[in-house]
Amino acid sequence: MKFIVDHNVGKLVKWLRMIGYDTLFFTGDDDWQMVITALNEGRVILTRDTEIMRIGVVASGRLGAVLIRSDEPEEQIRQVVDAFDLDCKSGLFTLCLECNTVLEERTKQQVKELVPPYVFKTQEEYKECPTCRRIYWKGTHWQEMNKKLEKLRQTRM
Ligand SMILES: [Zn+2]
Repeated sequence: MKFIVDHNVGKLVKWLRMIGYDTLFFTGDDDWQMVITALNEGRVILTRDTEIMRIGVVASGRLGAVLIRSDEPEEQIRQVVDAFDLDCKSGLFTLCLECNTVLEERTKQQVKELVPPYVFKTQEEYKECPTCRRIYWKGTHWQEMNKKLEKLRQTRM
């Protein structure tokens, strides 16, 4: 399952990447470009724009799209997770949050020169994005997002 996120619900991008779903962020103005990309790449559109829902291929169901109801990022991700019964666990921490590339595992020694000393001291697991070279570890930002996800999962049951 792959997504394309409209600029009006941009917060969804990082959430979906965090749980491992291939997600493009559409920042252009031309709705048709987004629709064409979605069709070509088999992506589901996530948007707050009711106009999109009226486009022929969407209205007919040929192209999947979800009209996001809430302004709240946490409500938005909940709506998407519920709509497709997304797996929030097995793909966790596998995609670059910035550029959507699949992360590669790195050993502690490989990242020694690349992360702050206090991180090196306290973290054991690292991943690197082969595209933008960002290094990931399960630091506080990650823990915070994960906590919110846990909460989301619990309230769904
Ligand atoms: Zn990246």
